[in-house]
Amino acid sequence: MSEQSWSPATVVVAAGRPAHTPGAGVNPPVELSSTYVAGGPVGYARVGNPTWSAFEEALGALEGGSALAYPSGMAAIAAVFALAPDGSRVVVPDCAYNTTLALADELDAAGRHEVVRVDIADADALAEALAHPTALLWLESPTNPLLDLCDLPLAVERGHAAGALIAVDNTFATPLGQQPLALGADVVVHSATKYLAGHSDVLLGATVAASPEVHERLHTHRTVHGAIPGPFETWLALRGLRTLHLRWERATASAAVIAQRLAGHPAVERVRYAGIGAIVSIEVRGGADAADAVCERTRLWTFATSLGGVESLLERRRRHPLEPTTVPENLVRLSVGIEDVEDLWRDLDAALRG
Ligand SMILES: *Cc1c(COP(=O)(O)O)cnc(C)c1O
Repeated sequence: MSEQSWSPATVVVAAGRPAHTPGAGVNPPVELSSTYVAGGPVGYARVGNPTWSAFEEALGALEGGSALAYPSGMAAIAAVFALAPDGSRVVVPDCAYNTTLALADELDAAGRHEVVRVDIADADALAEALAHPTALLWLESPTNPLLDLCDLPLAVERGHAAGALIAVDNTFATPLGQQPLALGADVVVHSATKYLAGHSDVLLGATVAASPEVHERLHTHRTVHGAIPGPFETWLALRGLRTLHLRWERATASAAVIAQRLAGHPAVERVRYAGIGAIVSIEVRGGADAADAVCERTRLWTFATSLGGVESLLERRRRHPLEPTTVPENLVRLSVGIEDVEDLWRDLDAALRG
């Protein structure tokens, strides 16, 4: 049986392991050398590191491209924005991960790019925004935290017609939920901090490029700008990745149950659930104060930012000053973990009832 025919659930476990030679470790070591004896493939560790390579091999196999690890999701995102030449036009979602939009605003304010915001769930608006030559089309689907979906094949077609490099933040869907490169995107980014690492104990980011050319440009950028991850952090993310399929199965199944029950809840005005993934956003009846009170009342769910870990988290997003104002004040984002779904429901239901 060839490795090409393995299912993602197998790749997640098997890719990026040392070769099956007698005496070899089952896991890659945490490689802690900053320099190497001359004559080998890597001379200095800003250029490459075997622990990064193991993680990159596994993620690259899952997404169907060439991966690079970064010290955070934002470092990976900043590296992809840097692919757009100075003075070029960049199209971004009008609502997406708040710090990505803050970066786009900063680049616009500094005169680096003309940044155009568009509702990426609206095909007509997207077509209009892409009627002009564009260097970079930034997509996120499902979006954080509104869980809007973008028609990726359509956006890819329109984006390429405008001359754009197409980047997709795949943090919410994970490669088990969707593989944007197979749909024609040029580069995928991840906050590996979230589902890939999965235990809320490490920050890490990644890019996955479809072409060797884009991969090479990103690798040169990482080496020159120096945004490299720690070997131990990368090792932790790879260790977390090994159980992604099990965590994903449980968390997405529980999210579906919770979303359905929330739909009929008297304390909830609106439920947003993309039908993919383990994030559910709710609008709590009674406004921001009522939403804050729900976050304070849960005992099992932790009131904390972030998502994608084994433990369930919730927060009111607009408490962050950077959050786009298109996000309702009473929106609480739920990151469903892998605990027993009935325990999660009882705790959330009690918090909502006050
Ligand atoms: C958290 C997040 C990021 C940023 O990643 P960091 O690892 O925190 O830098 C980017 N995109 C999305 C969708 C996220 O949820």
